[in-house]
Amino acid sequence: MIANSLKPDSPLQIAVIGAGMAGLSCATHLQQHGMLVTVFEKSRGVAGRMSTRRVDDWQCDHGAQYFTANDPAFRVALAQWQQAGVAQLWSPRLQVIGDRVNNPASRPDPSVERFVGVPRMTAPARLMAESLQVETQCTVRALQQDASGWQLQSEEHGWHTQRFDVVLLAVPAPQALPLVRPHVPDLAELAESATMQASWALMLQYAAPLSLPFDAAFVNQGPLRWIARDNSKPGRGSQETWLLHASAEWSQTHLEQDAESVAKELLAAFAELGAPAPQTWLAHRWRYANTGPAMQQACAWSTEHALGLCGDWLHGGKVEGAWLSGRKLAGKVMQAYAPID
Ligand SMILES: Cc1cc2nc3c(=O)[nH]c(=O)nc-3n(C[C@H](O)[C@H](O)[C@H](O)COP(=O)(O)OP(=O)(O)OC[C@H]3O[C@@H](n4cnc5c(N)ncnc54)[C@H](O)[C@@H]3O)c2cc1C
Repeated sequence: MIANSLKPDSPLQIAVIGAGMAGLSCATHLQQHGMLVTVFEKSRGVAGRMSTRRVDDWQCDHGAQYFTANDPAFRVALAQWQQAGVAQLWSPRLQVIGDRVNNPASRPDPSVERFVGVPRMTAPARLMAESLQVETQCTVRALQQDASGWQLQSEEHGWHTQRFDVVLLAVPAPQALPLVRPHVPDLAELAESATMQASWALMLQYAAPLSLPFDAAFVNQGPLRWIARDNSKPGRGSQETWLLHASAEWSQTHLEQDAESVAKELLAAFAELGAPAPQTWLAHRWRYANTGPAMQQACAWSTEHALGLCGDWLHGGKVEGAWLSGRKLAGKVMQAYAPID
């Protein structure tokens, strides 16, 4: 197939599908190296699973809860976000609740630094998107490639007239699969081999602060896996807001259950820990929350087809993995099109 429809000296035109952390990291890196990048995102806003629900006078992070930063390059990006005021260290009173509580290995590691977006989880992604061309509300449904490059079809606009030299998919594996399958069987096989786990999230708003002895807890019993007082994160308002995440197993079993009965069961589990009934609740079903187990191959790239994949699912899961995966895919593209002296 056609690997490069480039004219000499013309910058590479690249389409990145997905404006989560992986897509934004990939696009940023490519743009910084002189490539013309357009990011296509199906939602109204950027950030993907680093998301926050805003309701009247309260808000709650209902996807990623915090992120760690171990890789030196990611720590540089984090330092820039901290300097720009869009990320901060979060030091909650953290507990482990449940069966494994007496097992020292399951206690929170005090050396782990946990960071959050400020004033909400979406903030770092929004900052990154400011420097990029991002087309939101654009759900890519199909791709086709001919001698003049790649063309995209979106649900909202049909076939786009613009041609791209390279297409990079920064979406969860099940969403990448129908886009790559007609073009690159190897990449389709890879996406098909990834298993994504579901997660139910319940956001709770209270009129007054709860007197629980923790701000966040890993839960090893019943339907819950994670609890957090959202307003204990830096930069949030004073509105008392909590987030409950159900475990992957429970979420999978109750995936098609209605929000009302899911909320009832999760609230009952929270009540057992001493929490009263909330003033308001909102439920969100994540069909694709985490990859289990996440792969470790960083990204996937076909020079022959000028098509690549990145995302947390290829790089150990989590926010840091997503950022690194995007950056590594950008590196592959630059390597593939590096001028030959
Ligand atoms: C409930 C939950 C809890 C989590 N907790 C943590 C945590 O505490 N710490 C942590 O580090 N990580 C956590 N994660 C994981 C973390 O959110 C992800 O690892 C990371 O955000 C993934 O980034 P990504 O760019 O790979 O994918 P995504 O964030 O999913 O971005 C993909 C983007 O592509 C868009 N898209 C999809 N299909 C199309 C299409 N056809 N056309 C256009 N756009 C499309 C989506 O709308 C989305 O914006 C959690 C995730 C969930 C859901």
